[in-house]
Amino acid sequence: MTELAYLADGPAGYVRSFRARITALPPGAVVLDRTYFYPGGGGQPPDRGALRPVGTDVEVEVVDAARSGAAVLHRLRRGRPGALALTVGAEVDGTVDWERRYRHMRLHTGQHLVSALLFARHGLRTSRASLAGSSATIDLEGPLPIGAVPDLSDAVGAAVRRGRPVTIRYLPRAEWEARLPAPRSGLVPLPPRVDPVRIVEIEAEDACPCGGTHLRSTGEIGTIRLEEGAAPADRARILLTLGDPEATVPPA
Ligand SMILES: [Zn+2]
Repeated sequence: MTELAYLADGPAGYVRSFRARITALPPGAVVLDRTYFYPGGGGQPPDRGALRPVGTDVEVEVVDAARSGAAVLHRLRRGRPGALALTVGAEVDGTVDWERRYRHMRLHTGQHLVSALLFARHGLRTSRASLAGSSATIDLEGPLPIGAVPDLSDAVGAAVRRGRPVTIRYLPRAEWEARLPAPRSGLVPLPPRVDPVRIVEIEAEDACPCGGTHLRSTGEIGTIRLEEGAAPADRARILLTLGDPEATVPPA
């Protein structure tokens, strides 16, 4: 079993290096007792990075991370002889590819904000969202009213300038469902076994269940560009692009 250390509130989402112990070595992968590598899910791609056995200068590249039951598999680049320095029980220092991960955090928090604004202003639910590179795609259950995109861009810009705090907390599922407004995302219900529920809250803007990694403040989203993408007539698609994908990475 791997403790999913990135799930905690506050600084946990910003941890980019950590020490952990190897608990298993399935073919081509490493399982740790705890990890800050995001194993993918909810449209956010898995992290990449490196593992270095403590006391060595061998660096093993992690090209993918994935859930496998209660464990996270850190998949290694094939054919790296350095992987031989890994043994069950040994400690490693893990390093997350931070520039890539931080872009995902900015896009993911930006997507929550845009989805919340679309629902609040137009009653439009997000059916699917995915992030890749420096852009995100948000698919909506209905068409966009004329003029919605410029109006949305202004509202996003205002929320970014205000620097709304973003917090993570866990609520018993019954409590969350009792206070739930109309669900924002109609097509992705929570699996029945999820309890408690991890709620990502953007102050005054949004609260929704999510297992992804997020910013501490909407201010860190920075400049984003919104445009309408091609979609069937009764649907809509919003493309969200980071205006400055190489924006300053805050200190750990
Ligand atoms: Zn999310």
